[in-house]
Amino acid sequence: MSNNIKAVRGMNDLLPAESNLWVFVEKTMSELFNSYGYKFIRTPIVEKTDTFCRAIGEATDIVEKEMYTWKENNGESLSLRPEGTAGCVRAMIEHNLPREGIQKVFYRGPMFRHERPQKGRYRQFHQIGVEIFGADKSKIDAELMAMTHSLWDRLGLKNVTLNINTLGSADSRSNYKDILSSYLNDNYDKLDEDSHRRLKTNPLRILDSKNTDMQSVINGSPKLIDHLDDESIQHFDEFKSYLNYLNIPYHVDHKLVRGLDYYNRTVFEWTTNDLGSQGAICAGGRYDGLVETMGGTPTPGIGFAIGIERIILLLQQQGVDLSKTSSIYIVSMGNEAQLLSMKMAEDLHKELPEVILYNDISIGNLKNQLKRANKADADYALIIGNDEISNNQVSIKPLKGQGKQTTINPENLVQYFKENL
Ligand code: ATP
Ligand code: MG
Repeated sequence: MSNNIKAVRGMNDLLPAESNLWVFVEKTMSELFNSYGYKFIRTPIVEKTDTFCRAIGEATDIVEKEMYTWKENNGESLSLRPEGTAGCVRAMIEHNLPREGIQKVFYRGPMFRHERPQKGRYRQFHQIGVEIFGADKSKIDAELMAMTHSLWDRLGLKNVTLNINTLGSADSRSNYKDILSSYLNDNYDKLDEDSHRRLKTNPLRILDSKNTDMQSVINGSPKLIDHLDDESIQHFDEFKSYLNYLNIPYHVDHKLVRGLDYYNRTVFEWTTNDLGSQGAICAGGRYDGLVETMGGTPTPGIGFAIGIERIILLLQQQGVDLSKTSSIYIVSMGNEAQLLSMKMAEDLHKELPEVILYNDISIGNLKNQLKRANKADADYALIIGNDEISNNQVSIKPLKGQGKQTTINPENLVQYFKENL
């Protein structure tokens, strides 16, 4: 295009040809989450910048360089949300919800991060996530895994792997941070520039580095699990026994520390090898200290977020076939048939809510209307013409080789399609 009317880089249109998959994914997820007792929550796309800084942590990629932030006229700093947990926690505290008992919620919508756009990584992307407030037992961690495990099944996805780790309590982790820092300082020359910076701000994140040159230093580093408090280890052991009992395969990945500061104890990631380096499709963990950090009464929390674009890419790549919806194309000739077609369409909509109905808007020319029916990929054409009206009949023409054209009484239409679609 020669002029500049274009979408912003890294922010994409969802076009009709692809939207079926999105609707299928969002519907499947919402229904599944509902069936596990989660209720939908919607928070604003814009929050005070401070809400994200406090929740996510200053020394994270998101806060350091990925947020879209601006100043209002009154000097207040606001940001587009880069993730969903901070807003949920803010809403929980503001409306005092955890006081009423365990809160299980799910959200969905656009998130914004100023990253380098590539396949599976965008500046506006979409997440569906769940959060649970007020439950500290490992049983709920395991239920989350069971729910996601069955989600992949419902979506028809294969080759997804669960990686888990424990980060222990904030106290035991800070002790480990010192041990890790001193090891990394001893190997200072082998670290890259990014890691030199992180060594001061957030040394744990170095374990997360994707730099292949650093893998041997990372592999030789002291393990977090060897420096954790007994309660966290017990929590992790229980979590693993639930997974074993439920037959959910997993890998313990000691280098899994997650990008965000707020996690403690259980952290996890569902990954796939089918999407290159953008392999994380669902990630999350426990954040028992976050509600208190943000000014609420101490309330344990756990949750995850799923990147919908990556799920869609994976579904496309694995060739998942959506069970196709049936459709009928109504062809009508003459004014009287026009009227009748509207009435019939309404009756069919009521009786066959899953079926797509196209009602042609032109008055004449059977051939052209049938052409459009084929173009719409309809399964049947329902033909109403003068002959049909005078005999109180309609014709049904199968468009995909399901037999011959037949003529029936309009009263039997619903029955016919219930049997044949
Ligand atoms: P990555 O390591 O790929 O950058 P992350 O740790 O930053 O992921 P989270 O903050 O945990 O990701 O977000 C949860 C999920 O959201 C990710 O697993 C991924 O599926 C998706 N996601 C994150 N950032 C993007 C992005 N820029 N574009 C598309 N999807 C994303
Ligand atoms: Mg990231």
